[in-house]
Amino acid sequence: MTTTSAAPARQHVPAELPTRIQHVIDGERVDSVDGSAFDVLDPVSNTTYLQAAAGKKADIDRAVAAARRAFTDGPWPRMLPRERSRILHRVADIVESTDARLAELESFDSGLPITQALGQARRAAENFRFFADLIVAQADDTYKVPGRQINYVNRKPIGVAGLITPWNTPFMLESWKLGPALATGNTVVLKPAEFTPLSASLWAGIFEEAGVPKGVFNLVNGLGEEAGDALVKHPDVPLISFTGESRTGQLIFGNAAPFLKGLSMELGGKSPAIVFADADLEAAIDATIFGVFSLNGERCTAGSRILVERPIYDEFVERYARQARHVVVGLPHDPATEVGALVHPEHFDKVMSYIEIGKEEGRLVAGGGRPAGFETGNFVAPTVFADVPPEARIFQEEIFGPVVAITPFDTDEEALALANGVKYGLAAYVWTNDLKRAHNVAQAVEAGMVWLNSNNVRDLRTPFGGVKASGLGHEGGYRSIDFYTHQQAVHITLGEVHNPTLGRSGKAPHPAPPADDEADPELR
Ligand code: NAD
Repeated sequence: MTTTSAAPARQHVPAELPTRIQHVIDGERVDSVDGSAFDVLDPVSNTTYLQAAAGKKADIDRAVAAARRAFTDGPWPRMLPRERSRILHRVADIVESTDARLAELESFDSGLPITQALGQARRAAENFRFFADLIVAQADDTYKVPGRQINYVNRKPIGVAGLITPWNTPFMLESWKLGPALATGNTVVLKPAEFTPLSASLWAGIFEEAGVPKGVFNLVNGLGEEAGDALVKHPDVPLISFTGESRTGQLIFGNAAPFLKGLSMELGGKSPAIVFADADLEAAIDATIFGVFSLNGERCTAGSRILVERPIYDEFVERYARQARHVVVGLPHDPATEVGALVHPEHFDKVMSYIEIGKEEGRLVAGGGRPAGFETGNFVAPTVFADVPPEARIFQEEIFGPVVAITPFDTDEEALALANGVKYGLAAYVWTNDLKRAHNVAQAVEAGMVWLNSNNVRDLRTPFGGVKASGLGHEGGYRSIDFYTHQQAVHITLGEVHNPTLGRSGKAPHPAPPADDEADPELR
């Protein structure tokens, strides 16, 4: 049986919850041009608690025009890095000082456990601090050709960045794009996920208070196929940074192609955790439980496939299942809760349908449906399938919920073949105390990021991104700065100009062109 929290059965509704949220364009809160709005549900009661303005092309046009004006005429791109940095540190200060309220709203809107939402709010502040520091420390290359040239890199912001974000850890993932886009002097239009618009609506107030000039930050709520699509297809938006599903990424790729936009794509995952027989088993179990059940399993880097070496397989499965049954499912606002409510009934249905598929494909050893006592709301018991074959859908497809597949292996080669035998390549986790094997497996696994004997602990300086269907391009540290800037090469001649000369031989002169009045008018 799954452990559930003994906390009050009543849902917590935050005080002063808005009932309506608008777009933010040029510093003003505005409704959609056509007046339309969409319903937003909370994931515990699944009832509508607010209406958000539903942006369409006309709203995106207004937001991009404002962002464009702020870029071409406003102070933001022209400020000294230190000036922008000070403002962004103020953003971080405000986020930090309001972390409890942010977490309360985020947890209510998304169903994330409150303690984890709090961690994500603090991480959002840290993202701003990190990029605020980075732009001040930024140095660019200069190349000397002795006696002839000095060449240097003139780094410049690009223009209006379109930022499209998903509903899992929404506020933190928005900060991950807003931080570097703004730090480098761009202006932005943010299109947050339609399931979770609440925390995004707080950015405008935070930026205003911190001193970000009007028009630098613009926000348009709305559906992906309408507001998101219009942003991707807007000719004055040269950059799109997108995080979401791989198939949405493919669509955006195609839609952005005619405009030759800069694209950064952070997409889906089905990341393996490979546990060898010599691993510290207790640490591996703790980490792999955390890796797939934290953030409700709605986590792009979730280690949702655990590959376990045969000699420890039975013990691992038994201990893992026992611990998974004790992961506490509860109301999102309860500090004891470890798994809250999935974001939306549509997503809940998707996860539940995979659980039914898994019952045909593997051996259910924990969970398998709603936890007892949660007859309504989007609650799913942490679910573990063992003996899952690699061709199973629950092994191949991203479920994005608290569901894990465990599969045995016999050799290092087989472990790698299983790890790499899916279309995704975002993260991988390797558990072994054999140094050579650890590095060999880490380097051969097809994943953008690998953790050895660790769960997902991010160092903000390192590249973040996936390979294969998990994404294109890398953000993180200087790579984010690279994505959001042009690096113009400026070449300077020192001393004499060394021009190869053409047309000075005096031989074979061309006939003079006809006088103007005789020339073919088509060619003028
Ligand atoms: P999604 O692709 O459905 O939506 C993401 C965003 O794209 C939303 O704002 C949505 O409105 C917008 N969108 C949808 N269709 C669009 C279109 N045609 N044009 C423009 N915008 C459009 O993804 P989701 O369900 O919100 O998020 C979950 C997915 O995100 C999972 O696959 C997860 O793995 C992935 N994810 C990846 C990372 C990463 O860093 N790799 C991080 C978090 C989440």
